[in-house]
Amino acid sequence: MGMATEKSAPEKLEKWKRERRDLLQRIQELRRQGICYICQDLKTKEVFGEQHIIWEDDEFRVVLDRYPRVEGHTILTYKPHREDVSELSDGEAAAVFQMCVKVVKAIKSALGAEKVYILSMCDGPINHLNFQLLPRYPGNLMGYRRLAMERRPLEHGDETVNQIRGALRRNMSKE
Ligand SMILES: [Zn+2]
Repeated sequence: MGMATEKSAPEKLEKWKRERRDLLQRIQELRRQGICYICQDLKTKEVFGEQHIIWEDDEFRVVLDRYPRVEGHTILTYKPHREDVSELSDGEAAAVFQMCVKVVKAIKSALGAEKVYILSMCDGPINHLNFQLLPRYPGNLMGYRRLAMERRPLEHGDETVNQIRGALRRNMSKE
């Protein structure tokens, strides 16, 4: 391992930490103004910028988390603003959960995950319903600590997004 490699890894990590700090500040600022940062990003893309998009249609946006806790950490957003699951109609609840199931199946088959954990945070004065899908691979740690693994920079994003997208499209075309 040469000097360049030893130096560049921490620098990359520092840059990544700065970007994440800036993003969190931007989110706080929008919240202070009473603006939902997810609705804002769905409209303008100005909060998250370019993302690794697995699936997007009128109702859903499914992306790779840019600060994943595990490989394949995925965010499924239901586009209409709902604070949490209690605001979903029966029809919406069915559509949202069916979409979760499709993405879980795609993650399992594309990445070889044994199981996929589903988490829906509802922090903040303004919260936009979304689901975090966290794959567990053979031999991985189990339990709630899985949901709190340290976030890392996204690596091999293009490859991962293609794999999950491919599996999702195959599953959808079978229906
Ligand atoms: Zn919203």
